[in-house]
Amino acid sequence: SSCRSLVSGQTRRNDGMAVDGEHMGSGDWDGRWNHVKKFLERPGPFTHPDFEPSTESLGFLLETCKILVIGAGGLGCELLKNLALSGLRHIHVIDMDTIDISNLNRQFLFRPKDVGRPKADVAADFVNNRIPGCQVVPHFKKIQDFDESFYRQFHIIVCGLDSVIARRWMNGMLISLLSYEDGVLDPSSIIPLIDGGTEGFKGNARVILPGMTACIDCTLELYPPQINFPMCTIASMPRLPEHCIEYVRMLQWPKDTPFGDGVCLDGDNPEHIQWVFQRAQERAANYNITGVTYRLTQGEGHHTITPSLANIGKLSLCSMYKIAKTTSQFHAYIPLNNYLVFNDVDGLYTYTFEAERKENCSACSQVPQDLQFPPSAKLQEVLKYLTENASLQMKSPAITATLEGKNKTLYLQTIASIEERTRPNLCKTLKELGLSDGQELAVADVTTPQTVLFKLKLTS
Ligand SMILES: [Zn+2]
Repeated sequence: SSCRSLVSGQTRRNDGMAVDGEHMGSGDWDGRWNHVKKFLERPGPFTHPDFEPSTESLGFLLETCKILVIGAGGLGCELLKNLALSGLRHIHVIDMDTIDISNLNRQFLFRPKDVGRPKADVAADFVNNRIPGCQVVPHFKKIQDFDESFYRQFHIIVCGLDSVIARRWMNGMLISLLSYEDGVLDPSSIIPLIDGGTEGFKGNARVILPGMTACIDCTLELYPPQINFPMCTIASMPRLPEHCIEYVRMLQWPKDTPFGDGVCLDGDNPEHIQWVFQRAQERAANYNITGVTYRLTQGEGHHTITPSLANIGKLSLCSMYKIAKTTSQFHAYIPLNNYLVFNDVDGLYTYTFEAERKENCSACSQVPQDLQFPPSAKLQEVLKYLTENASLQMKSPAITATLEGKNKTLYLQTIASIEERTRPNLCKTLKELGLSDGQELAVADVTTPQTVLFKLKLTS
C-alpha cells in the first residue's frame, strides 16, 4: 500500500469496530481505496491533459492534501461526510453556530443530545469516530477570526455557507493571498474555492480559481437584492400567491399567535408551515388567487430534507475531486467550468455555464475603481452608490480619505460614536469635504477583508 502509517501512534477512536487490517495501524484495510484508485491510477477519456496516472496521487490525497470546509450546516454535513469517505483526512471545519433542534431533519451528523453544542465540534467528532484515520479539526469561530496565515495552509477550500457576505469575505481573503510578479499571477499562490449554495429547492456549485476565473464579486449581479413586496399590496391588494403567504407570515401570525405568545414563525417547523399554508389558502380563495402550495409556503431559504442538499453536496465534491492546487499532482480531471445550477422545484433541471470574469471586478481585477460624481454631490450619494450598485452591494461602507496628508474618516457606520461624529459629513458636498478630482477614497466593508480603493472622478 502506498499509505504509510497514517494514524500510528494515535489512539484508535473506533474501539470495538472490527476492521480488517486494523493491525496495520493505518486504519486501512484491503481494498479500502480501490474505488478512489480507479480515478487516480488509470487514464481515461475525461482526465486532465496533464494528468499522469500514478500510485503516488493516493498518498497525496491521504497524507498531504489539507482541506477546509466552511459551514457545518445542511451542505457542510454532506461535504464533510463525502470528503472523509473519499479519502481526505486532513480536514478543518469552521462554523460559528450551535445546533438547533430544527436542524436535525437534514443535518445528519447531529443527534438530539447534541442540541446546543457547536456544530463544528459535533460534526468533527462524528466523522472522526466513524471514519478510521480521518482527522477533522473543528473551529467554533467566525471566518473573520482567522488571518491569512491560517487560510494559506489549505490546498482547497470548500464553502457551504448561507450568507453572501461571508462568501464575499472568503473570496476576498483568497484573492488577498495571490501574489503577482510584474503583473503576472504566480499560480502557486492560488487556492481553489469551491462554493456550494442551496436555497429552498434550488442549488448551485461553482469552482473559483482566484485571479484566473470568475470570482464571487465578478458575478455579484447573480445575487439579486431580496424582493420585498410593498406592504400595501400585501395588506389590501394581493395579486400573487406570494402576497397571500406574506400576509399570513407578517400580519396574521403576530396577531393570531397560533402557537402561543412570543413564538416566532420557524420555517423549519412543519406545524408552523402547515398553519401558514392553510391561512394563506383561505386568503387566496377570498381574492380568487391560485397557486398557494405547501412548497411555496416553505419559501426560499427554509430548507427541508430535499434532494438538493445531497446533490449539491455531491456536485461540489465532484468539482473538488477534479481540481487541486494547480501545482500539485492531484489534478486528475478537468474541473467544472465553472458554474452549475440545480433546480428541483418542479421536476429536475440542471445546467452548467461558464461565468466570466468581470474586467473591472472590485475584488479580483486589480483595476482601480472609479467613482464618478459631480462636485456638488453629497457624501450620502456616494454611500448610496456603494450599497445599491449591483456590482458593489456593500453593506455598511466606511469611507476614509487622505486630506492634507492626514487620514480622515469621512463616514463610519459600525461604531456608534464615530457614526454620530461623522454623520454631518453625509449632507456635505464632495467639494465642501475638500475632495478633489483624482482623490483616492479607501472603503472598508464587511463584504471584504481588504480595503477597496476608489478613485474619485469629479465630473463637471
Ligand atoms: Zn472578480
